[in-house]
Amino acid sequence: MVKLGRTIKLRLYPDTNQAEQFLAMSKEYQRLANIVSQWIFDHDFQLSWLKINHHLYKIFRQKSELNSQMIQSIFRTVSARYKTVREQMRQQSYRYKNEEDKWVQVPRDLTWLVKPIRFRRSQADLVRQSNYSFVDGMRQISITTLGKRTKLGFTNKGFEKYFTEAWKLGTAKLVHTGDKWFLHIGITKKVSDFNPKDNPQIVGIDRGLRFLATVFDSKGKTLFFNGQKILRRRKKFLEIRRQLQSKGTRSAKKKLKQLAQRENRWMTDVNHRLSKTLIALYGPHTLFVLEDLTNVTFNTDDLPKPLRNSHRSWSFFQLESFLTYKAQAIQSTVVKVSPAFTSQRCPKCGLIEKTNRHHETHEYWCQQCQYRCNDDRLGAMNIGILGQDWLNGVKHPKIRKLTTAG
Ligand SMILES: [Zn+2]
Repeated sequence: MVKLGRTIKLRLYPDTNQAEQFLAMSKEYQRLANIVSQWIFDHDFQLSWLKINHHLYKIFRQKSELNSQMIQSIFRTVSARYKTVREQMRQQSYRYKNEEDKWVQVPRDLTWLVKPIRFRRSQADLVRQSNYSFVDGMRQISITTLGKRTKLGFTNKGFEKYFTEAWKLGTAKLVHTGDKWFLHIGITKKVSDFNPKDNPQIVGIDRGLRFLATVFDSKGKTLFFNGQKILRRRKKFLEIRRQLQSKGTRSAKKKLKQLAQRENRWMTDVNHRLSKTLIALYGPHTLFVLEDLTNVTFNTDDLPKPLRNSHRSWSFFQLESFLTYKAQAIQSTVVKVSPAFTSQRCPKCGLIEKTNRHHETHEYWCQQCQYRCNDDRLGAMNIGILGQDWLNGVKHPKIRKLTTAG
């Protein structure tokens, strides 16, 4: 079994009075969170929820209107934030050059923090049942604010499918953006794992620039997801960016930032749609095979020069994470294989030969067995074959160049 986690976002419609109550509660929550944060900072980063509770609970209860569940939720929230930061610091060790001009890495921990973590936004984490619950046959939501419970309407556009028994509701975050109120509810569901013995279909996916993805499945069918439209759009973004950069004014800088955000949102949307399409096309019991692109530089020959450096690999990793996340829900999975020689090996006779690939014509033509096919398709085929190796028990599938065949 695997536990799936999702977040559903509800738009809340408080009246003026309710909105004031929400605001007061969130501000009080934020205030106490910062006190807890200071306490943790002053007490050798004590993150044990029990210990924090032991020291602060009584004082908070006496001096605050927040109920006991809410106060305990503050302890959990603050402690969890410190743990996240601790993990981030652990992963980014401090580097410096020593006297011998060699790089030295020093692992960091929380003691490297110079001040307590600040909770800058007013917020509130609500525990289910005690702080929020659905009432009136799920038509309304009841939320506890300072001292009292209040009922209000909500919309859950697009999240209806999660309102079933199978999904368990967890802690919710009350979020205030602009003049709108939202409730983000964490939900979980247990589903069965991908089973390699279920005779899964194998789908090899070659990610690239000319084609966003070339997909080859175990039935021998190939699909191309064109990347031209994406490239054109990115070129346009680049043009606007240049115009703004040449202006150099303050408002241009602001616009540049907005533009970057818009480009990222758009790319995220592209990845969402592509992963959704792949999931819908192949369905349950599918093994999606991708190349492990860690430390890989892309062949950017197809890109206009100014776009080459700006090409962001994060978008490839994003697709991978979206696909993994969606596959999990339907007993499918994603496996990553080594990208070595995937564009050089002939899938028919096994010859590995760089010159078989003709970049200008985007064709692969095997010198040994005369097999010919589109070069992107070839990549996807080889990736699929490595997926089969994985199913057969090879932990890290990789094409190995054993002999120089002839
Ligand atoms: Zn061949």
